[in-house]
Amino acid sequence: MEVIQSFTIDHTHLKPGIYVSRQDKGFTTFDLRITEPNQEPAVAPAAMHSMEHLMATWFRNSNVKDDVVYVGPMGCLTGMYIVMKGSYTPEDMRILTIQCLEWILTQHEVPATTPETCGNYLLHDLPMCHWECRRYLHRLQTDFHSQYTMLKVTLDDGKIFADA
Ligand SMILES: [Zn+2]
Repeated sequence: MEVIQSFTIDHTHLKPGIYVSRQDKGFTTFDLRITEPNQEPAVAPAAMHSMEHLMATWFRNSNVKDDVVYVGPMGCLTGMYIVMKGSYTPEDMRILTIQCLEWILTQHEVPATTPETCGNYLLHDLPMCHWECRRYLHRLQTDFHSQYTMLKVTLDDGKIFADA
C-alpha cells in the first residue's frame, strides 16, 4: 500500500489555519485546522458535531453553494474537511470561513437535531462549539497559517515520498 498524501504532512509542526491538501480532478480539498494537533486538546466530539451541522448549513446556503461538494469533520477531531468544485485558494477559503464562523456565533440552535434528521441527535454542544468557533475565528483573523511542512516518508520500494 502507498502512504496516502495526508499522512506525509508533518503533524508536529502544524498550526491552526486553512491548508489545501490537494487540488486535482477539478476539485480543491481544504483542511480547516482548528486546533494544534497533539499540542492542544482536540475539539470535543459533541462540539465538533454541532460545528459540522452549522458549517455545512452555512456553506450549502452561501453564494458558493453550487461549488460545495463536502463538509465534514476529521477523524482526529482537530479540524474539518471542505471539498470545493473548481480552484480556490486558502485566502478564498479564509474569507468564506470567517463569514461562516461569524454566522455560527449568532446562532441559538443547531439545525437538524432530531432523531429523524441526525444519526446521533443527542451528541451536540452549542456553547462549546461557539467557544471553538470564537477561538478559530480569532486565529484566522490574526495569525493565519496556510503552508504545510511535508514529512519525508520512505515507501516500501525505497522511494522517498516527500511532496504532494
Ligand atoms: Zn448529525
